[in-house]
Amino acid sequence: MFVFPEIEAAGAICHACTTRLGGVSEGPFATLNMGFHVGDDPWRVRENRGRALSAMGAPGGALVAGEQVHGDGVAVVGPGDCGREWSPHSPGVPGTDGLVTASRGVVLSCYVADCVPVLLAHRGGRAVGLVHAGWRGVALAIPAKAVTTLCRAFGLEPHDFLAGIGPSIGACCYEVGREVAEACQAAARSSSVARPAGSDRFRLDLKEACRRELENAGVLPGDIFVSTLCTSCRNDLFFSYRAARGLTGRMAALMFIPE
Ligand SMILES: [Zn+2]
Repeated sequence: MFVFPEIEAAGAICHACTTRLGGVSEGPFATLNMGFHVGDDPWRVRENRGRALSAMGAPGGALVAGEQVHGDGVAVVGPGDCGREWSPHSPGVPGTDGLVTASRGVVLSCYVADCVPVLLAHRGGRAVGLVHAGWRGVALAIPAKAVTTLCRAFGLEPHDFLAGIGPSIGACCYEVGREVAEACQAAARSSSVARPAGSDRFRLDLKEACRRELENAGVLPGDIFVSTLCTSCRNDLFFSYRAARGLTGRMAALMFIPE
């Protein structure tokens, strides 16, 4: 599992981004597929999730996920939401790509294979936030909205948070059209997040766009940590929707405030 040493060192929040290693799934889902909806055997996904959660010392049955609709919905969740976990029996919290909580032991989760997991950890352990951001989420500035929601809901300040931008597709492997590039540049308020790559094509740096949006929301630049790992370049370590042309597993980002 991948962790941000700086968030780990702060000592107040448990977090991890899973890789594709260490699970029981086979074929395109080999081996640690955390997503139920991709066509894998549900019992294998349950086993994989159990392994990841127990490796983190996470409380059982406390998982919460959003529906992940590539929107900008951010929900405040608590103990009553545990079990809304993006399983075959629950779509997760409806219309939601971002989750925040101040409740101990509620395990926020999001599921990605190229999209960016954005982790927000209060340095004193008072709250956590987790965002699923693909280009649509970036174009809607969902990382910034999650910071705002955290601060409003719990009376905190943006500079109280450490942020992690997890393994996801890099600009090296992410070519998009002009409309997508311009939407993300506008939302991030930075032209450098997308660079020309031939006729009307652009290389989009989703991680840099997320970083800019967090900074725009008031998170201190020195408190934002960005994984340099590209999920598409590193198929040995990660699932990549683009590299696999669709049929693949999902990694999870997981966060909770320990009891
Ligand atoms: Zn790459």
